[in-house]
Amino acid sequence: MIPPAGRTALSRAGAGSDLRISTERGQREVFCGLTGIIWLHRKIQDAFFLVVGSRTCAHLIQSAAGVMIFAEPRFATAIIDERDLAGLADANVELDRVVAQLLARRPDIKLLFLVGSCPSEVIKLDLSRAALRLSGRFSPQVRVLNYSGSGIETTFTQGEDACLASLVPSLPSQSGDAPASLLVVGALADVVEDQLRRLLVDMGIQVEFFPPRRSTELPVVGPNTRFLLAQPFLADTARGLEERGACHLPAPFPLGAEGTLAWLRAAAAAWQVDEALFRRVTQPAYERALKALSGYRDQLAGKRVFFFPDSQLEVPLARFLANEMCMQLIEVGTPFVHRAHLAAELQSLPAGTHIVEGQHVENQLDRCFAAKPDLVVCGLGLANPLEAQGLTTKWSIELVFTPIQGFNQAADLAELFARPLIRRTRLVA
Ligand code: SF4
Repeated sequence: MIPPAGRTALSRAGAGSDLRISTERGQREVFCGLTGIIWLHRKIQDAFFLVVGSRTCAHLIQSAAGVMIFAEPRFATAIIDERDLAGLADANVELDRVVAQLLARRPDIKLLFLVGSCPSEVIKLDLSRAALRLSGRFSPQVRVLNYSGSGIETTFTQGEDACLASLVPSLPSQSGDAPASLLVVGALADVVEDQLRRLLVDMGIQVEFFPPRRSTELPVVGPNTRFLLAQPFLADTARGLEERGACHLPAPFPLGAEGTLAWLRAAAAAWQVDEALFRRVTQPAYERALKALSGYRDQLAGKRVFFFPDSQLEVPLARFLANEMCMQLIEVGTPFVHRAHLAAELQSLPAGTHIVEGQHVENQLDRCFAAKPDLVVCGLGLANPLEAQGLTTKWSIELVFTPIQGFNQAADLAELFARPLIRRTRLVA
């Protein structure tokens, strides 16, 4: 049964002020924001991402995309070589030439992102000016925008935030007398988007998603826009939308049956959806999700999990694993704690949960080895060394590439954590 409004399983578990949030600074083990191109280029189907970077950047994108290239890719790297670095070539002239060649060859491109990198920042190549110049030359057929995916002091999901934040000023303005509209913010797999749209529409809520599947279908924004975040790593995008007059609806993130229910309830409350209608729309999918999750609870309940900071999804995932899968949280490392966007999640974590914001990887490794967790959620760079030490790991990047939001994906999310434990058991047996 669906719990009554205001008494979800999330609110019952609440810890609030009993959390320990500490901050660490030191050596970090993270991927840079270029990684976001891998899922963003699949989402915005007429966009192209041109990284202005080094061969290292090109290798990163190529190997991260790896098996995912089925057609002509919609990303590439304009390589900054020694002549550019030595100041012997005019990088702007080179960039204009590459962009002109690209757009002549690919008329399907309607939105071009120039993506900055560490090397483009080192040579102080001003990509915002380049984007303006190239937009002037190629609009209205092609809009050219820029953002930075540089790895200096960032984490990989910030690439999506920077990309979407760069798009916010291009969103058309809502007329003053427009009815209230709902915007769901954050790249979601199409299958997830379709399910969430169906549930919201069945409650009588018209909804748009940002980013859209095509750049020609940008949602309008203005003071009558209410937005729900679908991802917890979109601080700059949210700020940009608020500057355009939109209003954030605080909610947990749609992970797990309870998280999805509470996320939908936030929209329903803002639209004053009748409780009976809310239940009628959500109950079948919610109950299916609960049933599907119960199969994984036996495998996960009581297991001890340790999060290294990587994806910024750590706090909502920890809430899901603790409250819905009955796992024990040893430490929840996360690159940043956005207290406003994570407020509902933080309230819902079990009392005494230790959250560590930032990273000092050596100290975290020491704590992890001492705790001997059953499962470690971490970045790719740490997974193999930890496996070699006998620990069982889950790559956090997989949680960004895989559709995990919504009722229908709740069991898939649980399975992502159960699978490495099952594999370890088989290896030991
Ligand atoms: S960290 Fe910098 S140099 Fe390395 S791949 Fe990312 S943007 Fe390129």
